[in-house]
Amino acid sequence: MFKVISNRLEQGYRTTTYPKEAIQLYSRFRGLPEINDECDPAIIRQCADLCPQDAILIEEKKIDLGRCTFCGACAQVADGAFVRFSTNFEMGTSRREDLITEGTLPDLAAHAKGHFKKLFGRSLQLRQISAGGCNACEADINVLNTPFFDLSRFGIDFVASPRHADGIHVTGPITRNMQAAVLATYEAVPAPKVVIASGCCAISGGPFHGGSESLGDLNRLLPVDLYIPGCPPHPLTTLYALLAFFKK
Ligand code: SF4
Ligand code: SF4
Repeated sequence: MFKVISNRLEQGYRTTTYPKEAIQLYSRFRGLPEINDECDPAIIRQCADLCPQDAILIEEKKIDLGRCTFCGACAQVADGAFVRFSTNFEMGTSRREDLITEGTLPDLAAHAKGHFKKLFGRSLQLRQISAGGCNACEADINVLNTPFFDLSRFGIDFVASPRHADGIHVTGPITRNMQAAVLATYEAVPAPKVVIASGCCAISGGPFHGGSESLGDLNRLLPVDLYIPGCPPHPLTTLYALLAFFKK
């Protein structure tokens, strides 16, 4: 017991001060892209040809963050003449079309649904559904419960039973085998309920897009309320999106 107390004293307070204080991620982190709309169309086409996700819209000079895996290949072309990635991890939208961006996203807090803030602003319980992903999304959700992020200090928890949940948080491209489970879990959550699509797989199919064995877009199954981009979304991106959508 004394050892536990002395360890605790030695380690001190480890929880992040975010969102009260801004947090700077390491320089190699790829967050919200910065797009040069005056870029030579030939370079944009080169980026689009290189993109494994078909996430670059050449005519519109935009990137679809719902498809992008943040692999960074496009930022290597012509030394980032068309796109560079900032370290801004604050990403999330309430509408799918807003993820198709020229480098800005609408204020998520302003677009959040008022009744969700009223209902779930003080307490939000989510049931996580892993619908056929690679497990990286799930791993980065798990760390939200570590002392550094300490998600439950905001009244947000992941629960085991959908009957105890206020909504579902879905990761993965929704494989054929998981479609019935996603629907059954959604049905088991009492209304009113929220649906969150987390990671490019749940939003668009991600690297599995177009595959015959997955649905590749949660919206085709259920009405999505909140989209969190990334592959996987950084835990701080998820934290930001949940707080902006439900709390602010
Ligand atoms: S970072 Fe995104 S847009 Fe750029 S090449 Fe990779 S997947 Fe495509
Ligand atoms: S979005 Fe990326 S990290 Fe998440 S399940 Fe799909 S491939 Fe894996």
